[in-house]
Amino acid sequence: MNPKLVLEAKSELGEGPSWDSRKGVLYWVDIFRGLVHVYDPDKSEDRVVQAGHYVSSVVPRKSGGVAITLQHGFYRLNLEEGKPSLLAGVEENLARNRFNDGKCDPAGRFWAGTMDIEEKSPFAALYVLEKRKAVRKVLEGVTVSNGLGWSPDKRTMYYIDTPTRRISAFDYSERTGDIENRRTAIDMSGQPGYPDGMAVDEEGMIWVAHWGGWRVTRFNPQTGKALEHVEMPASQVTSCCFGGEELKQLYLTTARAGISPDALAKEPQAGGLFMLEVDVKGLPTFSFSG
Ligand code: CA
Repeated sequence: MNPKLVLEAKSELGEGPSWDSRKGVLYWVDIFRGLVHVYDPDKSEDRVVQAGHYVSSVVPRKSGGVAITLQHGFYRLNLEEGKPSLLAGVEENLARNRFNDGKCDPAGRFWAGTMDIEEKSPFAALYVLEKRKAVRKVLEGVTVSNGLGWSPDKRTMYYIDTPTRRISAFDYSERTGDIENRRTAIDMSGQPGYPDGMAVDEEGMIWVAHWGGWRVTRFNPQTGKALEHVEMPASQVTSCCFGGEELKQLYLTTARAGISPDALAKEPQAGGLFMLEVDVKGLPTFSFSG
């Protein structure tokens, strides 16, 4: 398996990929540039929409368009007009925090967590936004909220708080959206870099992007063991998502942020969008029902 550079984007902090199966496009963001990207693999075209500072995640909406997170809230965004409109605010009084990774669960709820911008204090949290309901805080004591995923049987949620270097598992109820019984599924303390974004495949295995680790690894969350890894031509691998008609293409975002100019000269493809042809089918991106 060889990662292919599909877009030489040179993004500062490429992140948050999601696949829109209706349109056959990949959404992703550049957090520091405030951009939502719409990548169309059939045309090899990428379009950008100015969404706002710290846009950190983007998901398709069932009713059309997308939903995003900006620093202090969930928004809907019309990709033609580009004007975000607030769905629910969080942490407006916490200037040191911002929203980070977000994703929808199989029932169409939009989950997203916040982070301490300096990545030091555990005063961030994980939130969930559901159609016709107020935003709900579901987890506290978080430092850098990151990857999210659900098992194929929809009974387990996976979650990454990056500095813990662990992937947590929770019992998850698709009906209520409640999570409980947190435990460690994968301990990544012996692995290069830090766990960032993730994607789950049809066999229930977890693909994890290594921030600062030059790789993506497929883990078995039942045993906690690494099954295989693929080396990347960029050190800051931020997130991944299955796309393509058959969901057998793993798209990977990367970043230039946090790399010195000297080091950056040695990884000219940093910040690019990559794609890996894989043998296993991924789970689909779920859309926001709100
Ligand atoms: Ca991330």
